[in-house]
Amino acid sequence: MGGTKAVTDNANCEMVKMSYDFIFDLSRLSQPLFKEIAEFSEKERVHEKIGDMARKMVQKFHVDKITGLPICDSITVIEDLINIQITNSLLKEHFNQANKRALFLPHCCRKYMDSRCKAEFDSETTSYVCNHCSQDCMINQATKLAKKEQYDVYVLPGGSCIRKIIQKNTYEGVIGVACTDELKVGTKILEQFRMPSQSIPLVKNGCSDTRFNFETLERVMSDKKLG
Ligand code: SF4
Ligand code: SF4
Repeated sequence: MGGTKAVTDNANCEMVKMSYDFIFDLSRLSQPLFKEIAEFSEKERVHEKIGDMARKMVQKFHVDKITGLPICDSITVIEDLINIQITNSLLKEHFNQANKRALFLPHCCRKYMDSRCKAEFDSETTSYVCNHCSQDCMINQATKLAKKEQYDVYVLPGGSCIRKIIQKNTYEGVIGVACTDELKVGTKILEQFRMPSQSIPLVKNGCSDTRFNFETLERVMSDKKLG
């Protein structure tokens, strides 16, 4: 996906495009202004600031010691979380206006990853359809909440599956739950469709027995109603 910075920059760019309801012509502005903007961008490199911030947070919250991750991996995770949050903030207003919405969940959050999971696989949508076999399954709980909030729900084996779903439907906004790596894949696809989204990163990855913060999902959905 060309790195998290690219995601943020592209999302930022999309957001600016979407929020402009006026035409401008900057051609008569003096060249030193553009030079100063270029110098400022170079000097105040935002991605470096995020890196510094992530490093400080890792230190402050003992992320490496508590998780057992090496410091560099801890910094990467925190950087990704910061970038996801920035992108969410940029897209939030537009997302809140969306009427027809979808929720994309990762299949790794199912309680069972084998035949004990009674979900059916729909090859049309490349998505599992939960059959609610286990009350304590996160997918079951998230599906029930989302249906109540009138979201279409897709439980996906990978972020790349969303392209077909977006092409076949007329969604105006989506919530995506996945690990930070898959969120990058999904966000890139959504950017191509100019689809406002809110991302919820897994708090435990590993491709099975994974978890996300359910309260975050509830909050994102209820923020929508207030928007
Ligand atoms: S509740 Fe749904 S997703 Fe979870 S294990 Fe059962 S059928 Fe699968
Ligand atoms: S942890 Fe990430 S890559 Fe692995 S299955 Fe879950 S969402 Fe996909």
